[in-house]
This record gives sequence, C-alpha cells and structure tokens, in this order.
Amino acid sequence: MASPEMNIPKQGRLAIYDAPNAPFRLEPYALAAPAAGEVLVKIRMSTICRSDIHSYQGHRPNPCPGVLGHEIIGDIVALGKGVTQDMRGDALAPGDRVTWSEYFIPGSNYYTEVLDLPQKSRGVDKYGHMAVTTAPHHHGGFGEYCYILPHSWILRLPDVLTDEEATPINCGVATMIAVTEAANLRIGQTVVVQGLGLLGLYGAAIAKARGARVVIGLDTVAARRELAYKFGVDLALDPTMDRAALLHEVRALCRPEGPDAVIEVCGAPEVIPLGIEMLRTGGTYVLGGVVNPQAMVTLDANLLLKKLLTLRGVHNYHPRNLIEALDFVVANRMRFPFHDLVDGKYSLDNVGTAMADAAARRVLRAAITP
Ligand SMILES: [Zn+2]
Repeated sequence: MASPEMNIPKQGRLAIYDAPNAPFRLEPYALAAPAAGEVLVKIRMSTICRSDIHSYQGHRPNPCPGVLGHEIIGDIVALGKGVTQDMRGDALAPGDRVTWSEYFIPGSNYYTEVLDLPQKSRGVDKYGHMAVTTAPHHHGGFGEYCYILPHSWILRLPDVLTDEEATPINCGVATMIAVTEAANLRIGQTVVVQGLGLLGLYGAAIAKARGARVVIGLDTVAARRELAYKFGVDLALDPTMDRAALLHEVRALCRPEGPDAVIEVCGAPEVIPLGIEMLRTGGTYVLGGVVNPQAMVTLDANLLLKKLLTLRGVHNYHPRNLIEALDFVVANRMRFPFHDLVDGKYSLDNVGTAMADAAARRVLRAAITP
C-alpha cells in the first residue's frame, strides 16, 4: 500500500486579497500530510456567501492577507491520525466527497458542556475568516485545497446530490434550519419571510417541509419574488407597497390575526418593526440576516410586551443542524430546484469577477470551481 504522503501534491494555489476591495492574486502555498485530527480535501466547489462579500468589502473585520470562502465541498485526499468517521458515524476514506461545518472550535468547553452552544465557543473560528499567513494556510474555500481542522463536524455526501445542491448546505441551508427551528414552526402554521435571497428561498422551502400552511415572502426585487414561488412561497409581496394594504394581504392569508412567525433574512434592520407589527399575539420573530455590527433599530417595545412576542437571534448553527440540512436537501431535491440556485461558475483565476457579480446580485450564488 502506498504511503499517504505519496498522494499529496507539494503545493496548492490560493486566491488571496491583501486589503478590503483589493484585487485577488493567486499564490501557491505548501501542502503536507494532515496533522492529527485534520483532513486534507481537494476542493470541488466553493460558493460565495453574502458574508464573504461583507468581509471583502470591509463591512466586518476580517484579517488580511486573507483567503475567503466557507461554503465548501471537496474530496478527501488524506485523513489525519484519529479521523476515521464523519459526525454521523459513517466511515471516511480518501476519495469521499464531504461537507463540513463552517466553523471549528478549540475543543470541549463551557459552551459545549453547559450551554449546548458549541457554535458560540470562545475561540471559535471560521473557514475563510483567517489570515492566509496562519498555518496551515489552506483554510478557505477560494483555493485548490483545504484542511478540515480539528473539532469541525464532517458529513459524507450521498452520490445523489449534485455539487450545486451540496455546496450551500454547510452555511445557507444549515443556517435556515437553525432559523426555522428557532421560529418553532409547527404543522399548519403561517410564516412571513423578510428577504428572498438565497437564505429566504431555503427558509421558505424548509418552512414548507416543516409543515407550514402558508409562507409569504417579502422582497423589493420582482425577479426574486417570481423565483420564490418555486421554493414554497405562496404569496410574494413588495414590502414597499402601502403598509395598510400589505398588512391586510398578510392577515387575509394568516387568519385571524397574523403570522405565527416572521423571519428576517434581508440584513436590513429597518424591516424589523413591520415584522413585529404583523405578528399574531404570542408569535415569534427570528433575526437571521442582520450579521453586521451597528444594526440599529427603533421599535415599540410595548408591542413585544402586549402581544407576548418572542424575539430570537440566530448566529452560526448547532452541529445537529448540519445533519438536518443535508437530510432536508436530499429529501426535497425533487420538490424544489436547489440545483438552479448556483447560477454562476468561475475558475479560481476569476474570483474577482465572481465576487463582483455576486456583490452586484447579477447571480444568485456564484461558485468557484478550481
Ligand atoms: Zn455563509
């Protein structure tokens, strides 16, 4: 049997940016056999998430020179000592196609053991959020290889999924599994989704899969409202329409008083008061999009009190949500056209173009295929 080192190339290229909005440059970095607890993966596809764009444009702090990309899938090149199976217990071997959590943690700690919030562990770090100078350098999606680092959660991908269906699972889909879980959706309930970007479309589809009777989507972009009907949205409205007319239309479908849950995934804090206003008594409002600091908002707190509302925030997802995300996409891939959401493909040399197209929303999800 060949020694594992024989299969490992000497180096792999990474698309690096030196400062916000600076052009990307391709640079080779050395590769070595994965250390204990690590897995070396040859990247198949990396999709550009809205948070990659925020980082690249400098809206949130990200160390430079950096390598972005955290929605990644790849084929296992080599397994480090101690890694034999995925988080579900399935055996892992070189050649397996895998996804993994967008974050990794320092190990067992107060947040894992006491709070059951491993995703918020002190020292949690994310793929595509570290300086490229930090070893082992290959820890972002915009490159040829990536090391899955210790205390990540890995899942082997079933053959039935296309790369396009599989790549957004570890961020977009898993996040919306967590958001809809926080909304506590039950069979027959009604939901309003504020924002019909990728998160909103997955959110609508997941809400339907969780048994929602009615899903209403709000977005200012007509093309997105049109697309939303393919992802479980029953009625898509422009939130800039007359406020009274909007509330009337929402309540007509969410009788008698309003939706059971409202989900914010548009990243604009100014939409929050409208969502709070339309909720039924005892309803739940979930924040999933306002990830940038200083998302200031003024709202009538008396409404929260008088209507007995629940307000929830979701940032990162629990590892169990990654399994649920995969199972959701596998089970619903014939019902919703997830494959079509990845509508732009770019080589590693064209990361700059991909980023510009994604930022300008010329594509819904841009994919880098090294
Ligand atoms: Zn993301």
